[in-house]
Amino acid sequence: MSPEAIETVVVDGLGLAQELRKEMSEEVGALVAAGRRPPCLAVVLVGDDPASASYIKGKRRACKQVGMESVEHDLPADATQEEVISLVLRLNRDEGIDGILVQLPLPDAVSANAVAAAIDPGKDVDGVSPTNGGRLLAGEAGLFPCTPLGILAILDRYGVPLEGANAVVIGRSMIVGKPISLMLQQRHATVTMCHSRTRDLPGICRQADLIVAATGRPRMVKADWIRPGAAVIDVGVSSVDGELVGDVDLENAVGVASLITPHRRGVGPMTITMLLHNTLIAYRTRIAR
Ligand code: NDP
Repeated sequence: MSPEAIETVVVDGLGLAQELRKEMSEEVGALVAAGRRPPCLAVVLVGDDPASASYIKGKRRACKQVGMESVEHDLPADATQEEVISLVLRLNRDEGIDGILVQLPLPDAVSANAVAAAIDPGKDVDGVSPTNGGRLLAGEAGLFPCTPLGILAILDRYGVPLEGANAVVIGRSMIVGKPISLMLQQRHATVTMCHSRTRDLPGICRQADLIVAATGRPRMVKADWIRPGAAVIDVGVSSVDGELVGDVDLENAVGVASLITPHRRGVGPMTITMLLHNTLIAYRTRIAR
C-alpha cells in the first residue's frame, strides 16, 4: 500500500442484513406470541425463468428466517396480462396477504407497468406501483423499492454524510437509479443522474463524494474515476466467464474509496431484507386499521 493509499471500509451487507433480520424476527415472534397471525408475502412468478425461480427461493427462505409466511403463485409463461392482473386483484382482496411481489421480468405479452398499477399500494412491497412512485416523488410516506432502501440503510449505518454531498448515480431504472436519486435528494445530497448517453462519465464521477453504480456493465467504474476518499455503492451484478462481478473494479478501488460495497454480500442481502421490512410495514399498517 502506498503512503497515500486510503484505508477502505468494505461494507458487510450480509452482516447488517442479518442484524436487521434478527430485529424483525423478534418483532414477528412477539406478535405471534400475542396471538396475531404472522405477516404474509405473496409472490407471483410468471413462466419458468431459472434466475427468477432462484430469486424467489431466496425470498421464501428470508421470510421463513424471520417467521413470516410466504405463498407462491405460479402462472405459465403463456399467461395473459388479464390473467396476471386478475390474480393480483384477488391477492389485493385477500385479507391474509400483506405484501404482493410480482417477480420481474414478465413475458413480453404482459406489461410490467400495467401489472404494477393493479397492485394495491398498501401491499406493494416492491414499491413499483404508480401511487408509491408518486409518494416518493412528493416526499410522502409509502412503500418504496427495496434496493434503494437497502443502499440508504448501508449509508446510514456506516455514517456516510449525505447532506450537501455530491452524489453521482449511474443508471436510471425504475427499481434502482431513479428511486435512489430521489431518496438521496430528499436527504439533501446534490444528485447527478447518469445513463448510457451521459458525456464524460469518468469526469463526472471524479467530482463525486458518493457514487452509486447500477448499470450491469462489468467493472465499468475504474479506480481512476473515483475521487480519493469517495464512497462507492456497487449495485451491479453480472456474470463474466462464470464469475460474478460488479459495476466497479473492486480490486483497484480498494485503497482509493473510503467505503465500498462488494458485489457479493454487499447490496444484495440488503435488498431482500428491505423486502421483509416493507412487508412488516404493510402488515403493521393493515393491523393498525
Ligand atoms: P437496467 O438495465 O434497468 O438499467 C441499467 C441502467 O444503466 C440504464 O439506465 C442504462 O442507461 C445504464 N447504463 C447502461 N450502460 C451504461 C453505460 N455504459 N454508461 C452509463 N450508464 C449505462 O438495470 P437495473 O437498474 O435493473 O439493474 C442494474 C444492475 O444492478 C444489474 O446488474 C442488476 O443485476 C443489478 N441489481 C442488483 C440488485 C441487488 O440487489 N444487488 C437489485 C437490482 C439490480 P439507459 O437508461 O440510457 O439505457
